[in-house]
Amino acid sequence: MKKLWLLGIALCVFLVACATSPTGRRQLILFGDSDVAQLGLTSFEQLKKQEKISTNKKETRYVRCVAEAIVHEIPAQYNYSSQDWQVELFDSPDINAFALPGGRIGVYTGLFKAVKNQDQLAAVLGHEVAHVLARHSNERLSQSQLANMGMLAADTALGDSTYREPAMAALGIGAQVGVLLPYSRIQESEADVLGLQLMAMAGFNPEQSIVLWQNMAQATGKNKQSELLSTHPSDQHRIDELNQQLAAVAPLYAKAKELGRKPQCQF
Ligand SMILES: [Zn+2]
Repeated sequence: MKKLWLLGIALCVFLVACATSPTGRRQLILFGDSDVAQLGLTSFEQLKKQEKISTNKKETRYVRCVAEAIVHEIPAQYNYSSQDWQVELFDSPDINAFALPGGRIGVYTGLFKAVKNQDQLAAVLGHEVAHVLARHSNERLSQSQLANMGMLAADTALGDSTYREPAMAALGIGAQVGVLLPYSRIQESEADVLGLQLMAMAGFNPEQSIVLWQNMAQATGKNKQSELLSTHPSDQHRIDELNQQLAAVAPLYAKAKELGRKPQCQF
Protein backbone atom coordinates (compact mmCIF):
# COMPACT_ATOMS: atom_id res chain seq x y z
CA MET A 1 0.00 0.00 0.00
CA LYS A 2 2.82 2.34 0.93
CA LYS A 3 4.50 1.54 -2.36
CA LEU A 4 1.37 2.49 -4.26
CA TRP A 5 1.12 5.70 -2.36
CA LEU A 6 4.70 6.58 -3.23
CA LEU A 7 3.98 5.65 -6.82
CA GLY A 8 1.06 8.04 -6.80
CA ILE A 9 3.17 10.86 -5.47
CA ALA A 10 5.86 10.14 -8.04
CA LEU A 11 3.26 10.07 -10.78
CA CYS A 12 1.74 13.28 -9.54
CA VAL A 13 4.99 15.13 -9.17
CA PHE A 14 6.89 13.97 -12.23
CA LEU A 15 4.31 13.19 -14.84
CA VAL A 16 1.35 14.96 -16.32
CA ALA A 17 -1.26 13.57 -13.93
CA CYS A 18 -1.07 16.38 -11.44
CA ALA A 19 -3.58 19.18 -11.52
CA THR A 20 -4.41 22.10 -9.28
CA SER A 21 -7.83 22.40 -7.69
CA PRO A 22 -9.76 25.71 -7.55
CA THR A 23 -8.51 26.30 -4.01
CA GLY A 24 -4.89 25.66 -5.03
CA ARG A 25 -4.61 22.06 -3.84
CA ARG A 26 -2.64 19.45 -5.81
CA GLN A 27 -4.86 16.80 -7.35
CA LEU A 28 -4.17 13.46 -8.95
CA ILE A 29 -6.10 13.48 -12.25
CA LEU A 30 -5.69 10.36 -14.39
CA PHE A 31 -8.75 10.57 -16.61
CA GLY A 32 -9.75 12.86 -19.40
CA ASP A 33 -12.49 15.29 -18.44
CA SER A 34 -14.50 14.27 -21.49
CA ASP A 35 -14.43 10.61 -20.36
CA VAL A 36 -15.67 11.52 -16.89
CA ALA A 37 -18.30 13.80 -18.42
CA GLN A 38 -19.47 10.90 -20.57
CA LEU A 39 -19.83 8.75 -17.44
CA GLY A 40 -21.94 11.46 -15.87
CA LEU A 41 -24.19 11.76 -18.92
CA THR A 42 -24.70 8.02 -19.24
CA SER A 43 -25.53 7.72 -15.55
CA PHE A 44 -28.01 10.53 -15.71
CA GLU A 45 -29.86 8.90 -18.60
CA GLN A 46 -30.02 5.65 -16.60
CA LEU A 47 -31.29 7.49 -13.58
CA LYS A 48 -34.02 9.20 -15.59
CA LYS A 49 -35.30 5.76 -16.56
CA GLN A 50 -35.10 4.39 -13.01
CA GLU A 51 -36.57 7.28 -11.07
CA LYS A 52 -39.95 8.92 -11.34
CA ILE A 53 -39.64 12.39 -12.83
CA SER A 54 -41.85 14.87 -10.98
CA THR A 55 -44.92 16.14 -12.80
CA ASN A 56 -45.24 19.11 -10.46
CA LYS A 57 -44.58 21.99 -12.84
CA LYS A 58 -44.29 24.64 -10.13
CA GLU A 59 -41.68 22.74 -8.14
CA THR A 60 -39.75 21.82 -11.28
CA ARG A 61 -39.72 25.46 -12.35
CA TYR A 62 -38.53 26.47 -8.89
CA VAL A 63 -35.64 24.01 -8.92
CA ARG A 64 -34.62 25.00 -12.46
CA CYS A 65 -34.80 28.69 -11.58
CA VAL A 66 -32.30 28.25 -8.74
CA ALA A 67 -30.06 25.85 -10.66
CA GLU A 68 -29.91 28.14 -13.69
CA ALA A 69 -29.01 31.14 -11.56
CA ILE A 70 -26.15 29.14 -10.03
CA VAL A 71 -24.68 27.71 -13.23
CA HIS A 72 -24.95 31.13 -14.87
CA GLU A 73 -22.25 32.32 -12.45
CA ILE A 74 -19.70 29.63 -13.24
CA PRO A 75 -16.49 31.55 -13.99
CA ALA A 76 -15.13 31.35 -17.54
CA GLN A 77 -11.99 29.53 -16.37
CA TYR A 78 -14.06 26.34 -16.10
CA ASN A 79 -15.11 24.41 -19.17
CA TYR A 80 -18.52 24.22 -17.59
CA SER A 81 -19.24 27.93 -17.97
CA SER A 82 -20.47 27.41 -21.52
CA GLN A 83 -21.99 24.03 -20.74
CA ASP A 84 -25.60 23.26 -21.42
CA TRP A 85 -26.93 22.09 -18.03
CA GLN A 86 -29.96 19.88 -17.67
CA VAL A 87 -31.95 19.89 -14.45
CA GLU A 88 -34.51 17.29 -13.36
CA LEU A 89 -36.73 16.99 -10.30
CA PHE A 90 -37.28 13.41 -9.18
CA ASP A 91 -40.34 12.41 -7.23
CA SER A 92 -38.81 10.56 -4.28
CA PRO A 93 -38.82 10.96 -0.47
CA ASP A 94 -35.01 10.92 -0.38
CA ILE A 95 -33.42 14.08 0.95
CA ASN A 96 -31.02 14.25 -1.93
CA ALA A 97 -29.53 16.27 -4.77
CA PHE A 98 -26.50 15.89 -7.01
CA ALA A 99 -24.61 17.42 -9.90
CA LEU A 100 -22.70 15.35 -12.42
CA PRO A 101 -19.76 15.91 -14.74
CA GLY A 102 -21.25 16.50 -18.16
CA GLY A 103 -23.60 19.17 -16.79
CA ARG A 104 -26.50 17.35 -15.19
CA ILE A 105 -28.33 18.22 -11.96
CA GLY A 106 -30.84 16.09 -10.11
CA VAL A 107 -32.98 17.11 -7.14
CA TYR A 108 -35.26 14.79 -5.17
CA THR A 109 -38.56 16.17 -3.89
CA GLY A 110 -37.59 14.85 -0.43
CA LEU A 111 -35.05 17.67 -0.29
CA PHE A 112 -37.91 20.11 0.34
CA LYS A 113 -38.13 18.66 3.87
CA ALA A 114 -34.84 20.37 4.63
CA VAL A 115 -34.79 23.24 2.13
CA LYS A 116 -37.15 26.03 3.11
CA ASN A 117 -36.33 28.82 0.66
CA GLN A 118 -34.49 29.57 -2.59
CA ASP A 119 -31.29 30.55 -0.79
CA GLN A 120 -31.08 27.20 0.98
CA LEU A 121 -31.68 25.35 -2.28
CA ALA A 122 -28.95 27.49 -3.84
CA ALA A 123 -26.61 26.42 -1.03
CA VAL A 124 -27.20 22.75 -1.86
CA LEU A 125 -26.88 23.21 -5.62
CA GLY A 126 -23.89 25.54 -5.32
CA HIS A 127 -22.13 22.90 -3.26
CA GLU A 128 -22.96 20.08 -5.68
CA VAL A 129 -21.95 22.06 -8.77
CA ALA A 130 -18.72 22.97 -6.96
CA HIS A 131 -17.85 19.25 -6.69
CA VAL A 132 -18.11 19.08 -10.48
CA LEU A 133 -16.06 22.23 -11.11
CA ALA A 134 -13.32 20.99 -8.77
CA ARG A 135 -13.21 17.66 -10.67
CA HIS A 136 -13.79 15.65 -7.51
CA SER A 137 -15.20 12.64 -9.38
CA ASN A 138 -12.15 12.48 -11.60
CA GLU A 139 -9.91 12.75 -8.56
CA ARG A 140 -11.80 10.05 -6.69
CA LEU A 141 -11.73 7.75 -9.71
CA SER A 142 -8.03 8.41 -10.14
CA GLN A 143 -7.29 7.59 -6.53
CA SER A 144 -9.27 4.37 -6.56
CA GLN A 145 -7.79 3.37 -9.88
CA LEU A 146 -4.34 3.86 -8.47
CA ALA A 147 -5.12 2.00 -5.27
CA ASN A 148 -6.83 -0.91 -7.01
CA MET A 149 -4.75 -1.56 -10.06
CA GLY A 150 -1.65 0.53 -9.92
CA MET A 151 -0.24 2.87 -12.42
CA LEU A 152 -0.16 0.53 -15.39
CA ALA A 153 -3.90 -0.20 -15.32
CA ALA A 154 -4.68 3.44 -14.75
CA ASP A 155 -2.69 4.24 -17.82
CA THR A 156 -4.58 1.60 -19.78
CA ALA A 157 -7.92 2.86 -18.52
CA LEU A 158 -7.35 6.22 -20.11
CA GLY A 159 -7.62 4.81 -23.58
CA ASP A 160 -9.62 1.61 -23.14
CA SER A 161 -13.39 1.67 -23.01
CA THR A 162 -13.54 -1.77 -21.35
CA TYR A 163 -12.39 -0.07 -18.17
CA ARG A 164 -15.42 2.13 -18.15
CA GLU A 165 -17.56 -0.17 -16.05
CA PRO A 166 -15.13 -0.49 -13.16
CA ALA A 167 -14.73 3.26 -13.40
CA MET A 168 -18.48 3.72 -13.07
CA ALA A 169 -18.51 1.41 -10.08
CA ALA A 170 -15.77 3.49 -8.50
CA LEU A 171 -17.96 6.54 -9.06
CA GLY A 172 -20.85 4.72 -7.39
CA ILE A 173 -23.03 5.77 -10.28
CA GLY A 174 -24.14 2.33 -11.43
CA ALA A 175 -27.07 2.39 -9.06
CA GLN A 176 -27.57 5.95 -8.01
CA VAL A 177 -24.85 8.28 -9.22
CA GLY A 178 -21.68 9.52 -7.52
CA VAL A 179 -23.19 10.76 -4.29
CA LEU A 180 -23.27 7.30 -2.73
CA LEU A 181 -19.55 7.28 -2.15
CA PRO A 182 -18.61 9.90 0.41
CA TYR A 183 -16.30 12.65 -0.67
CA SER A 184 -13.23 13.28 1.45
CA ARG A 185 -13.25 15.94 4.13
CA ILE A 186 -10.91 18.04 1.98
CA GLN A 187 -13.20 17.78 -1.04
CA GLU A 188 -16.19 18.67 1.12
CA SER A 189 -14.51 21.82 2.43
CA GLU A 190 -13.49 22.78 -1.07
CA ALA A 191 -17.06 22.32 -2.36
CA ASP A 192 -18.35 24.38 0.56
CA VAL A 193 -16.00 27.27 -0.18
CA LEU A 194 -16.60 27.25 -3.92
CA GLY A 195 -20.33 26.63 -3.55
CA LEU A 196 -20.67 29.59 -1.22
CA GLN A 197 -18.97 31.80 -3.81
CA LEU A 198 -21.31 30.62 -6.56
CA MET A 199 -24.47 31.24 -4.55
CA ALA A 200 -23.25 34.67 -3.45
CA MET A 201 -22.37 35.67 -7.02
CA ALA A 202 -25.85 34.61 -8.12
CA GLY A 203 -27.40 36.87 -5.48
CA PHE A 204 -28.51 34.23 -2.98
CA ASN A 205 -27.95 34.98 0.69
CA PRO A 206 -24.88 32.94 1.73
CA GLU A 207 -25.89 33.03 5.40
CA GLN A 208 -28.70 30.65 4.54
CA SER A 209 -26.14 27.89 3.94
CA ILE A 210 -25.72 27.66 7.72
CA VAL A 211 -29.49 27.34 8.25
CA LEU A 212 -29.61 24.73 5.50
CA TRP A 213 -27.15 22.39 7.20
CA GLN A 214 -28.96 22.84 10.51
CA ASN A 215 -32.28 22.00 8.82
CA MET A 216 -30.64 19.05 7.17
CA ALA A 217 -29.53 17.55 10.47
CA GLN A 218 -33.02 18.05 11.88
CA ALA A 219 -34.90 16.67 8.91
CA THR A 220 -32.72 13.61 8.83
CA GLY A 221 -33.27 13.02 12.52
CA LYS A 222 -36.92 12.40 11.70
CA ASN A 223 -36.35 10.73 8.38
CA LYS A 224 -33.49 8.31 7.92
CA GLN A 225 -33.75 8.37 4.11
CA SER A 226 -31.04 10.84 3.36
CA GLU A 227 -28.34 9.93 0.88
CA LEU A 228 -27.15 13.49 0.96
CA LEU A 229 -26.52 13.56 4.66
CA SER A 230 -24.90 10.14 4.73
CA THR A 231 -22.30 11.49 2.33
CA HIS A 232 -22.34 15.07 3.63
CA PRO A 233 -22.21 15.06 7.42
CA SER A 234 -23.75 18.20 8.85
CA ASP A 235 -21.38 18.51 11.75
CA GLN A 236 -20.26 21.49 13.74
CA HIS A 237 -16.99 21.50 11.84
CA ARG A 238 -18.79 22.21 8.55
CA ILE A 239 -20.93 24.92 10.11
CA ASP A 240 -17.90 26.56 11.75
CA GLU A 241 -16.04 26.58 8.45
CA LEU A 242 -19.01 28.06 6.60
CA ASN A 243 -19.30 30.75 9.24
CA GLN A 244 -15.64 31.62 8.73
CA GLN A 245 -16.17 31.90 4.98
CA LEU A 246 -19.13 34.29 5.19
CA ALA A 247 -16.97 37.39 5.48
CA ALA A 248 -14.97 36.40 2.40
CA VAL A 249 -18.08 36.07 0.21
CA ALA A 250 -19.91 39.12 1.58
CA PRO A 251 -18.40 41.40 -1.12
CA LEU A 252 -19.50 38.94 -3.85
CA TYR A 253 -23.03 39.02 -2.47
CA ALA A 254 -23.04 42.82 -2.24
CA LYS A 255 -21.76 43.08 -5.81
CA ALA A 256 -24.43 40.69 -7.07
CA LYS A 257 -27.14 42.83 -5.49
CA GLU A 258 -25.57 45.92 -6.98
CA LEU A 259 -25.73 44.28 -10.40
CA GLY A 260 -29.40 43.59 -9.84
CA ARG A 261 -29.04 39.86 -9.41
CA LYS A 262 -32.00 39.22 -7.16
CA PRO A 263 -33.37 35.78 -7.96
CA GLN A 264 -37.10 35.36 -7.44
CA CYS A 265 -37.45 31.60 -7.49
CA GLN A 266 -40.62 30.43 -5.82
CA PHE A 267 -42.81 27.41 -5.41
ZN1 LIG B 1 -20.33 17.43 -0.94
